[in-house]
Amino acid sequence: MDVNCEGCAGCCLDWRPLADGVLNHERQGPREPLDDTYNLALLRRDEVRAFVEAGLADALVPRLWTAGDDGVTVDGIDLASIAGRPAFGVGLRKVPKPVAPFDHEPSWLSTCVFLDPSTLQCRIHDDELYPETCRTYPGTNLLLDVETECERVEREYSGWRLLDDDPPADTEPLFDPGALGTAVFAHPDPGRIADAVERLSEGESTRKDRAEFVAIAAAASPGTVAIADEYYERTLERALDAGSWVGAAIEKWESLERNGEADPSLATSVEGERGAPPTPGWESVGSDHRD
Ligand code: SF4
Repeated sequence: MDVNCEGCAGCCLDWRPLADGVLNHERQGPREPLDDTYNLALLRRDEVRAFVEAGLADALVPRLWTAGDDGVTVDGIDLASIAGRPAFGVGLRKVPKPVAPFDHEPSWLSTCVFLDPSTLQCRIHDDELYPETCRTYPGTNLLLDVETECERVEREYSGWRLLDDDPPADTEPLFDPGALGTAVFAHPDPGRIADAVERLSEGESTRKDRAEFVAIAAAASPGTVAIADEYYERTLERALDAGSWVGAAIEKWESLERNGEADPSLATSVEGERGAPPTPGWESVGSDHRD
């Protein structure tokens, strides 16, 4: 697999406002997502744990899925479930940032918290936290013969993004039969999340909402719906206390979007000066996956 990512980042942000055609959600997971986030990068349990350990729980957000006839109803909303418990995943938050993909004029687009808007490169690309979902993208789509974001961008903006479509040898679908407890989780107490469900569907979750799901995911056990209570309690506390550069930058971006001009160079003051890892720029990198 070989991809040309320079000036793109189509898989890291919601570029639907820049597309003439209709772009569908990446339909990952058991059902249609309850929220409207586009290109949510979903994590595995051990990655959720690593983000929490690194003090970055405030970069995480849960995703619930809507149900068919076989779900569970929470606060009047039908949710996909496992053994009667609401099913969910955990991904990386998105926030409006001033970005200029595909040589477009800068505009405010919902963007992964780790994307540097000034270079359109990932701030954790060379970090051990770099998610498997991102490292192998679009390998899973190629494996399952599903259109990739690279091809959608090519269709709308021409040019070549997907240069070689052989998936990496170690690509594995996130939602394989072993996903329970490793990539898809089940919340043990629907009553405890009743207030959060509508906020999650509107993309307006609170720190407490997010911490609850993050702690359950971190305390999950592969292959079962069991939760390690002590691990849950410990993680919940850490997630509620998280105060990383990501959380601080999100608040700033949200206030700037309401009042400010879309200027990608704001990344320096909003993210860099709050401690975000730098990105190298394209001169030294060239065409490489999700840089
Ligand atoms: S590659 Fe980086 S910026 Fe893009 S979705 Fe993954 S973590 Fe976010």
